[in-house]
Amino acid sequence: MEEIAIYLHWPFCKSKCPYCDFASIRQNDASLYEKFEDLLLLDLTRSISEIGDRRIKSVFFGGGTPSLMNPKSIEKILNFLIKKFSMTNEAEITLEANPDTFCRNKMKDFKNAGINRASLGVQSFFDKNLRFLSRSYGEKQSVAAAEIVAQTFENFSFDFIYGYEGQTVKNFAQDLERAVNFECKHISCYQLTFEENTPFYEKMLAGVIKKIDENKEIELYDYIEDFLENNNIFRYESSNYSMAGFESRHNLAYWKYEDYLGVGPSAHSRVVVDKRKTEMVKISDPFLWESALSQNRSTFSHINTLSEKEKLEEMIIMGLRMVNGVTMEDLYQKVSPRVVNEIISEKKLKFLTEKKLMANGKIQLTKSGLKKMNSAVKFLLS
Ligand code: SF4
Repeated sequence: MEEIAIYLHWPFCKSKCPYCDFASIRQNDASLYEKFEDLLLLDLTRSISEIGDRRIKSVFFGGGTPSLMNPKSIEKILNFLIKKFSMTNEAEITLEANPDTFCRNKMKDFKNAGINRASLGVQSFFDKNLRFLSRSYGEKQSVAAAEIVAQTFENFSFDFIYGYEGQTVKNFAQDLERAVNFECKHISCYQLTFEENTPFYEKMLAGVIKKIDENKEIELYDYIEDFLENNNIFRYESSNYSMAGFESRHNLAYWKYEDYLGVGPSAHSRVVVDKRKTEMVKISDPFLWESALSQNRSTFSHINTLSEKEKLEEMIIMGLRMVNGVTMEDLYQKVSPRVVNEIISEKKLKFLTEKKLMANGKIQLTKSGLKKMNSAVKFLLS
């Protein structure tokens, strides 16, 4: 039986971070949360007709801030999935959480509801950094939340943001040291980016915030890898590091171009329907998504069968993020060999190998290739 990963999108956050362009809005109305929790289950019950009979390999509650949800609603959703589908024994069930949205008991309730992996958006353990990022909590709360997560789950991850003005290697090293001291099994380090239509982008245009220079960026990137490697936490994707066996199974499904179904406002899916890889996108605005659901209309804003070329592009863009890259066999399995051979030519692979960006004879970026991932991908697909 084919496996599938399920993503559920919770669209609300306690406050909106000034650098964030995710599909999330500030909302603190508990009665609205309750309504949207029911709607998420309703959307799931209606969307599963798209996937046929599958075995679930992972479930991911992402957002937004899904730790704002009631654990009982998470339990209802998981019970529904267990009743309808078979789950692999090692199914990974992740909850994204923000430090100021749970206490020890609530995290325990999430675990009892069926969550077996927590991904905590720490971003930093220090007041100065948290203030710069305008996070809604301080140092004390981020440390306390990390402690709760580490004491509740064996499998957990911390997210950090790095690469902003005023942040030194020494300063970031202290963040990573704290994470390692919690015996964290998985760490994601995302470089701060200035996305259009965010307050940080406006501030960057106005010269109030500056991007850090490229050399500093590389220094931090290299430092993260060295420090974590020395602590047995290895890079397996451009921004993700884990101890052996603790790689995110759910995220690997995206990067390996396996099937996944996205439920909830703005969620994306890639599912093979009638032997054709299909892209499905949910209505992005939570309130338009809600009205489509309550009027019994489709909650997909578009459904599109992907061409062979589009599939190849997506496989390369996602696959080259992984340290292990992709193989020709992977590509031939999912895309017409004629299209693969037309675009991924020997000549291009040789050129990238000579530039030391690609490993010899493989579709796999080297350490320096990962630093130039966007241009290597663009060249390969040109
Ligand atoms: S908590 Fe996360 S999803 Fe919510 S606004 Fe901040 S960065 Fe975006």
